[in-house]
Amino acid sequence: MAVDNIFMKIVRGELSADIVYRDELVTAFRDIQPQAPVHVLIVPNHPIASAADAGQGDEAALGRLFTAARQVAEQEGLSQDGYRLIVNCKAHGGQEVEQLHLHLLGGEPLGPMRCRHRDR
Ligand code: AMP
Repeated sequence: MAVDNIFMKIVRGELSADIVYRDELVTAFRDIQPQAPVHVLIVPNHPIASAADAGQGDEAALGRLFTAARQVAEQEGLSQDGYRLIVNCKAHGGQEVEQLHLHLLGGEPLGPMRCRHRDR
């Protein structure tokens, strides 16, 4: 299991990050390369490599990702206009860091979910 990825290091306090929310199940911190005025990553506090690796034992943390996202969105003033939640999974999903994480993006209209279409 991928326990030494950068996000687990942030969770364990071994790597610094701009943490905006933390509880016993999840940690939320600002993305270092924000794609929107607000871009926060929310990660389980225990290792889960990707959405494809999540199991029943992970359900409490997975549920908490969404309620923590709601709380962070409120803190960041996003609740009224809305926001986008994204989970990239493995290579085709564009996942770069091998620890399941929820992207919370907002602060402006985000446009269509996919901007690049492939001709077939
Ligand atoms: P993904 O492509 O879904 O795996 O997203 C990984 C995200 O992690 C990217 O948006 C990166 O900008 C972000 N990222 C990488 N390293 C760090 C870090 N040390 N602190 C905060 N965000 C990071």
